[in-house]
Amino acid sequence: MKIGIVGSGMVGSATANAMVLRGIGREIVLVDLNMKRAQAEADDILHAVPFSNSLDVRAGDYPDLEGCSVVVITAGVAQRPGETRLELLGRNAGVFRQIVPQVLTHAPDAVLVVATNPVDVMTHIAAHYAARFGVPSHRVLGSGTTLDTARFRAILGRHLGIDPRHVHGYVLGEHGDSEVLAWSQVTVGTVPLMDFCRQQGIDLGPEVRAQIDHAVRRAAYHIIEGKGATWYGIGAALANIVHVILRDQRSVLTVCTPRAEIAGVQDVTVSVPQVVGSQGVLSTLLSPLSDEEMALLTASARVVRNALDGLLEQGNL
Ligand code: ADP
Repeated sequence: MKIGIVGSGMVGSATANAMVLRGIGREIVLVDLNMKRAQAEADDILHAVPFSNSLDVRAGDYPDLEGCSVVVITAGVAQRPGETRLELLGRNAGVFRQIVPQVLTHAPDAVLVVATNPVDVMTHIAAHYAARFGVPSHRVLGSGTTLDTARFRAILGRHLGIDPRHVHGYVLGEHGDSEVLAWSQVTVGTVPLMDFCRQQGIDLGPEVRAQIDHAVRRAAYHIIEGKGATWYGIGAALANIVHVILRDQRSVLTVCTPRAEIAGVQDVTVSVPQVVGSQGVLSTLLSPLSDEEMALLTASARVVRNALDGLLEQGNL
């Protein structure tokens, strides 16, 4: 199984590294505008193969993506001093206008997995350009809130004293400040969260919830404060998405893909729990939210829709 990664910066290379350590796929091709960087990352990651799993890792150009089942896109440009978020978005839309056609020219059957931020908007843009190649929107998905969901489960699991793999809960909406922790849906095993806390005598009052909410929502800010950027967590999340696609695993993940409507907002891309397999997003899990959570999800979807409208007004989409 061949996987392409376009953008071999911190996130792209962390993804390739996580794939080697977990033994995901058989061949990884790293593509970057900066060929020297791609080559250096590929060599560095390849040297871990004797200690982990048998995979080939190499740098290449777009034609080398031929035969890829999945292509992860992490390429993007950084914010310039004084540049607005919308201006930055316009430039990153320009990057995708070049990259997506090149990827699909050489890997027409690949599932595209987008990680470039703001990931919801960039996934919508990728799907827009991919549609010109006849790619259905469900074959283009973004990492969305997969990492935020993992953070929620990890932090809540620690508070409850329960293996996070058995804490079932999701972060919905935009991957960003407006994301929604869907507390009303959380179960521990099959037991609703608040019932579990009552049974076990665990405090999960408004103050504790606010602390957990803060820790999940602000996690990236804290990491960026300490080390400048985040890469291991998102790299592991992306490697897992690739694994799920390659194995047609039908996992429930909070990835994002364009949808005709979410929480009353039309033509938008934000995360909700989705079943993911070899063809991308296969279906969506619809589970009732509280009225308050639904209103927050609507507001979150509007943030993304507004950014898309801004791009349209600029003529950048
Ligand atoms: P992140 O932390 O999100 O990985 P980086 O700046 O470390 O951010 O990496 C982004 C990568 O995307 C850089 O290596 C950059 O060279 C690459 N990149 C930017 N534009 C393009 C493009 N048009 N095609 C391919 N790679 C690109």
